[in-house]
Amino acid sequence: MSRLLIIGCGGVASVAIAKCCQNSDVFTEIMIASRTVSKCDALKAKLESKTTTKIETATVNADSVPELVALIKSYKPDAVLNVALPYQDLTIMDACLECGVHYIDTANYEPEDTDDPEWRAIYDKRCKELGFSAYFDYSWQWAYQDRFKEAGLTALLGTGFDPGVTSVYAAYAKKHYFDEIHTIDILDCNGGDHGYPFATNFNPEINLREVSAPGSYVENGKWVEIPAMSIKREYDFDGVGMKDMYLLHHEEIEALAKNMPEVKRIRFFMTFGQSYLTHMNCLENVGMLSTTPIDFEGQKIVPIQFLKALLPDPASLGPRTVGKTNIGCIFTGIKDGKERSIYIYNICDHQECYKEVESQAISYTTGVPAMIGSMLVVTGQWLKPGVFTTDEFDPDPYMEALNKWGLPWQVVENPVLVP
Ligand code: NDP
Repeated sequence: MSRLLIIGCGGVASVAIAKCCQNSDVFTEIMIASRTVSKCDALKAKLESKTTTKIETATVNADSVPELVALIKSYKPDAVLNVALPYQDLTIMDACLECGVHYIDTANYEPEDTDDPEWRAIYDKRCKELGFSAYFDYSWQWAYQDRFKEAGLTALLGTGFDPGVTSVYAAYAKKHYFDEIHTIDILDCNGGDHGYPFATNFNPEINLREVSAPGSYVENGKWVEIPAMSIKREYDFDGVGMKDMYLLHHEEIEALAKNMPEVKRIRFFMTFGQSYLTHMNCLENVGMLSTTPIDFEGQKIVPIQFLKALLPDPASLGPRTVGKTNIGCIFTGIKDGKERSIYIYNICDHQECYKEVESQAISYTTGVPAMIGSMLVVTGQWLKPGVFTTDEFDPDPYMEALNKWGLPWQVVENPVLVP
């Protein structure tokens, strides 16, 4: 029996909420609160006849700590699941601390305004000291460690698929398959086709910022940064086939490098089709990916936000996307004195997801782990005071829940390795 406050009502939230409603023994009551309350009401109307979970809705501007505090104090949830945008991570964490409730999210903090001089000064210092230049990093949320610990509250960061499940796979491999892990390659393959020349599978602003940034990986405890899309590999994915994939910076590398310092190299690859890359390069070259406002006919316009308004809403891709995703991790290392390598992965079918919850597989593979992480927190299985990523808990209940709630995984020994 629990009450969960869910903030945000976009693509990922819709799946997380549908899954909470399937799991009504645990989530007896939920509140959906977002900027546009009509979306929350529409989702409630769709779900409430199929579940015993009691659903309430509210409007909230999650950039405002006082608004969040007022909402949390009136609803009195056991935990808050943040599936709004990474821009709201810190305000929601502040409000959770003030109200004494646990916090859960799927993506680490990044600022909406990357030209903010105060943020820039800290960012520039971090780029120099750590050696990677992505706008997002864990330092902002790890800085809450002592405050959550002292308050006896849990903050569970990044319980989506990647990050999220991929880090649970790492903890599971370490617990059951290896004495020492030497390398981790995280592979994110989307073999889905939505029929548009260009669209993003989740929030376009966040997605395009991530993909157009320089790539980076960790080797022997140090970051190595490379120009965007400059390392390309081909891989034959089970259930999908041969795909081009590119090395990207990704947030779980940072957490895994900190928590598993014995791993010698951690990389992240994502597949992209040629059409996506050509469009992205063109948009970047003409300045459409910029987050800096420009003056246009007396109005301030942020180019990437204008682009978002033109692109298909990721939540609308569900009915038209066909094909599968294959996301997982290749681990190499030593077990009982012998070399070992395994691939742990999930295959998810876009149309199957649509049939179940009217979403494509990218929202599905993120929304299901968001529900699972929330379930483990509210049932007390993953509670410890402080700020943690998903590799820092016992992976077994999470792995079991993945099989039960729609993201079954498999382990293959001796997979083809990525050069
Ligand atoms: P969407 O853009 O579809 O949804 C975002 C939601 O947040 C919308 O409902 C939006 O409201 C709401 N929102 C935005 N700003 C505010 C605000 N200030 N106050 C209240 N509500 C607000 O995004 P997605 O569902 O695609 O992504 C959600 C999160 O999931 C993101 O943080 C993303 O980075 C993360 N993600 C994580 C992945 C993983 O594997 N770990 C993979 C994919 C995404 P409105 O309807 O008014 O716009």
